Amino acid sequence: MLDKDDHLGKNAWTELLPGETEAVHKFNKSYLDFLNQSKTEREAIENIYRTARDKGFISIDECQDLKPGQKIVIREKGKICALIVMGQDPIENGINIVASHIDSPRLDLKVRPLYEEDGLALLKTHYYGGIKKYQWLAIPLAMHGVVVKKDGHMVNIVMGEKTEEPVLTISDLLPHLAKEQMEKKMSEAISGESLNALAGSIPLDKEGKDLVKNHVLQRLKDQYEIEEEDFTSAELELVPAFPAREVGLDRSMVGGYGQDDRVSAYASLQGVLEVKDPAKTVLCLFVDKEEIGSVGNTGLHSLVIENIVTEIMHLAGKTNYLDIRRCLARSCALSADVNAAVDPNYPDVFEKRNCSFLTRGVVVTKFTGSRGKSESSDANPEFLGRIRKLFEDEKVSWQVGELGKVDIGGGGTVAQYMAYYGMEVVDCGVAVMGMHSPFEIVSKVDVYMSYKAYRAFMQSF
Ligand code: MN
Ligand code: MN
Repeated sequence: MLDKDDHLGKNAWTELLPGETEAVHKFNKSYLDFLNQSKTEREAIENIYRTARDKGFISIDECQDLKPGQKIVIREKGKICALIVMGQDPIENGINIVASHIDSPRLDLKVRPLYEEDGLALLKTHYYGGIKKYQWLAIPLAMHGVVVKKDGHMVNIVMGEKTEEPVLTISDLLPHLAKEQMEKKMSEAISGESLNALAGSIPLDKEGKDLVKNHVLQRLKDQYEIEEEDFTSAELELVPAFPAREVGLDRSMVGGYGQDDRVSAYASLQGVLEVKDPAKTVLCLFVDKEEIGSVGNTGLHSLVIENIVTEIMHLAGKTNYLDIRRCLARSCALSADVNAAVDPNYPDVFEKRNCSFLTRGVVVTKFTGSRGKSESSDANPEFLGRIRKLFEDEKVSWQVGELGKVDIGGGGTVAQYMAYYGMEVVDCGVAVMGMHSPFEIVSKVDVYMSYKAYRAFMQSF
């Protein structure tokens, strides 16, 4: 696909097969719905799980014996989901894995968030993932999440998505008084501790202390039956309150929050739903906590893949240690995650001969990392050769991608945590402009090509 004289490659809109242009727009319409209904990791997993059940995946607990073609779903802690389609080939020969992450940068409420200052009630936050703090000021924020009461009862909260519901917001300093602030370094102009969201201004009574805060607490009690102490066992996230939208006069792009990496989650979900009688067993995996290093018991830097594979092999009657190790080591994986698209407004940070562009198809990223590929899983060329052939055979428009210029920054994905087992893995996902912002941009045709890529990979032998 890469022409010798043209590092930009071909625009994937021009490479579509007959009928595919309509398919691209239709696919992205459903994708927009998914984005708007999946603004947190829990919501994404709930939607993925429900879709899988509707499409005939059965829970592993209901599964008696495994035959080729059997579809199984595993959900863990409300933040991990695994969709499995059993293949013809013995499982110890390895499986095909596509793994994406469903967490995105946001503002988490602290465990003791609510306080009163200057006659106003505010909620303290601690940001999650890599954000440019200024992007989260002066925009409407919705509050999503769960509160768990002492008796284990879970209260689900979604506030600020419907136009009749209130939103929260973090104020920005007026330019008139921002002379000192504007002279500061961008990284220092807004402190983490100033990311406090406005939550109320009506006092509960005429006289007393913390009356505005107490009024907010009363509203929380009336509406959700939660008390102040309940915040300590809660997971409440502030996310942009506006919906994802089509972008451009030609409607060719999608703008919205959380596309890193729910775009890969959605595309791989649609891919696995279409997998029929695969040669290899397929594992389509959705994990949490990538944005903070894949740590914790819902991130991929845990034993989750190993546990899922062991459960499946147990059902298949193959629980000996050697079979499990062989299955993992002989597997192949796509780390389904996004790369940075060259931004014409900021050309200086991109090395255009190796970076990825909007509309040039799904991006195959050989390595990520920073400062000399640190923390990267550098894909083996033997595996990349197979991926090239597969994508060309299956008419998947694709491009190469590197995350910006050497030494300008960098980043990582879940690839290294799969490579750990010895399996072949490469990063593969769409290019995103304005990654980690409240309104990330992707190209519709790239989204469609990523779905074709994941589906083709899952069916491959
Ligand atoms: Mn990502
Ligand atoms: Mn990210």
